[in-house]
Amino acid sequence: VEPSCLDKHESVQVEADLSTEKEKVLTGDRATGQLHLGHYVGSLQQRVKLQDMYHQTILVADMQGLTDNGHQPQKVASNILNVVADYLAVGIDPLKTRICLQSAIPALAELTMYYSNLVSISRLERNPTVKNEIQSKSFGRSIPAGFLTYPISQAADITAFNATLVPVGEDQLPMLEQTNEIVRRLNHIAGGAILTECKPLLSKVSRLPSTDGRSKMSKSMGNTIMLSASEREITKAVKSMYTDPGHLRVEDPGKVEGNVVFTYLDAFHSDIDYILRLKEQYRCGGLGDGTTKKILEECLQETLKPIRERRAMFIDDKAQLIDILKRGTEQAQEESHRVLTSVKQAFGLNLF
Ligand code: ATP
Ligand code: MG
Repeated sequence: VEPSCLDKHESVQVEADLSTEKEKVLTGDRATGQLHLGHYVGSLQQRVKLQDMYHQTILVADMQGLTDNGHQPQKVASNILNVVADYLAVGIDPLKTRICLQSAIPALAELTMYYSNLVSISRLERNPTVKNEIQSKSFGRSIPAGFLTYPISQAADITAFNATLVPVGEDQLPMLEQTNEIVRRLNHIAGGAILTECKPLLSKVSRLPSTDGRSKMSKSMGNTIMLSASEREITKAVKSMYTDPGHLRVEDPGKVEGNVVFTYLDAFHSDIDYILRLKEQYRCGGLGDGTTKKILEECLQETLKPIRERRAMFIDDKAQLIDILKRGTEQAQEESHRVLTSVKQAFGLNLF
């Protein structure tokens, strides 16, 4: 039996300065589908650690999900509870983390409206992340206004919860820059520090690729291994995984770079030295894709089994999921309303 995959997951490193008062962390996910292995290595495992170190809020971003799904809103509505079940399944604890629903927090929409007066259209069009997304989503000339302006709505999300730390990948840094520009403008208007600038908590994990290796694993592209994947689905996904097309016979030397099986082994297997040795052997020749896939399959089966079982339990109790989400949302409504009030005051809009 190979070493357990789960050990590694237990030891994900997140640097925290425990000497200071707990900072506030905000993250979230668009409610556009079930969460997948990319979310697991890219953010969920980290959040499970963060909830013991900081005041953590997680936003189920249904309004943001609508910005490119206005024509198919049921895709968003039907996935809200799926996302909550995924959170609970991986160990996000509603007693430690506030889980809340974006569309049920009116202050977020209001703040977005106020902030949108502090940002120009050309600034939004220059945002490199949005620019890339617009290209890949092929909106043509019909970019939804809500999509172009979603960085403003993210600024509302971050500031509404006084978040000073935002876990992100490199590609999300422009969003935080945009937020901090808004914060500085608002503070300038207010003549004092109403809002606090946020800092990124940069994830060192690069984007997990899809099994075909062609793009990152993403809900919208239907190329995911979901946290709810059955044993058979996992087997099938690993079997179809992209390896090295030049590695035809077992004795041929193979390429590790760009070989999705090794990318996943790096991300999920607990024994780094063992994987290093496998890579060496693969490079020299004598290690077949059947064997590497078998090792990965066992590892993924072991990782996902407890998550799948917990998830099935939570998704069966919709009332409990709604209750958890509602409680978190009610707390979030209060806090965000206080921020909204001070922002309105900054604009002098506090007649009554
Ligand atoms: P969509 O296709 O609707 O945009 P998505 O699969 O890209 O969905 P998001 O909700 O946009 O998921 O992503 C939320 C966060 O999850 C990201 O900011 C990132 O931290 C993490 N994430 C998403 N996909 C991956 C991935 N393939 N690898 C690592 N992290 C990921
Ligand atoms: Mg995305």
